[in-house]
Amino acid sequence: MTDTYLLGGHALIDGTLARADIRLREGLVAEIGPALRPAAGALVLEVTGFTMPGLIDAHTHISWAGTAPMPRTLEGVRARAEHNLRRMQRAGVTTIRDVGSLDGVALDASGGPGRHAANQIVCAVGGHGTEAAEQWRGLPSLAMEASGPQGFRAAVRAQVERGAGLIKLTLNAADLEVTPQEARAAVNEAHRLGRRVACHASVPEAIDIAIDVGVDTIEHGNGATPAQLDRMARAGIVLVPTVWIFQRSLALARRADGGSGAAWPPPAEIWQARVDAHRDVIRHAVASGTRVAAGTDAIQGFPPDALADEILALHALGLDPIDALHAATAGGAAALGMPELGRLGEGAPADVVVFDGAPDDVVTRRERPVAVFQRGRRVR
Ligand SMILES: [Zn+2]
Repeated sequence: MTDTYLLGGHALIDGTLARADIRLREGLVAEIGPALRPAAGALVLEVTGFTMPGLIDAHTHISWAGTAPMPRTLEGVRARAEHNLRRMQRAGVTTIRDVGSLDGVALDASGGPGRHAANQIVCAVGGHGTEAAEQWRGLPSLAMEASGPQGFRAAVRAQVERGAGLIKLTLNAADLEVTPQEARAAVNEAHRLGRRVACHASVPEAIDIAIDVGVDTIEHGNGATPAQLDRMARAGIVLVPTVWIFQRSLALARRADGGSGAAWPPPAEIWQARVDAHRDVIRHAVASGTRVAAGTDAIQGFPPDALADEILALHALGLDPIDALHAATAGGAAALGMPELGRLGEGAPADVVVFDGAPDDVVTRRERPVAVFQRGRRVR
């Protein structure tokens, strides 16, 4: 296989920007050095800016995201998912963690970024994940509803049998919907089967349960108290706050038309409260050392390739530019429990992105990559 050389630029390695050339070979980063000399016949890319690990979107719904109307056929939904994957990849996303898609769609997708998918959302009967069911009437469902500890265990097993690489569990919408016993049963069963649990918890009662039963990540976490964030930091639970989608939803809800295009638009006051809460949550997460991962949570009405918006939003709430990029690389890897991802080093997978500008430009101006490599293969 032909080697690829990225020459003349800088590289972002473990949070430090340094002058470095990079050689990719057989899907891996083979060599990083100050002045590599390409062999005859090698592919060479002159880097004017810097190279960094490929981005990880830690909270996607690939069968659901998109600004066009929801397709009415399964074929249409599958095409939408493939289209979303390609768009994300061109934006520099080389890995996604899909935390809920119509049954089978994310598992059956092909191409695009590396995919780690929960398949369906596991939730209470009529719980969070079922609200927008009208959008996929006649199609496979986004959610698998469960009741009682046995029911939650069975739902987790069903997702794993279908091929889920992780489990998505939702504990609340406006109010708590799942008992501590049900949550514990789901998490224990997932862990017994070697699957991590991404837990939607955004009110304090749900967040307490999530921490108590040992979930691996907390999604949104708007209502997290400082004490809860301290507990998360100590337990190594990763926070995937998805702040951009809340800010964007607030902007839509404020529009005169009431935010048409959003999946189920609550009034602006509710979005405002969630956005305000996130401000304090992110500030305390930074102070307490809680691990933060960047995720878009783009659903019906929102573009799939918005990770740059989430990175900028995290920066605006207090992460410095390098930490904001870290949230979209090593943070996502921590959410996945795959420390080999999200880092640039010899022997790491050759999932890398190249930018023309500096890290500050990428964060504050949402600069798009000039080149994207997926396991060493150039895809942009
Ligand atoms: Zn979500």
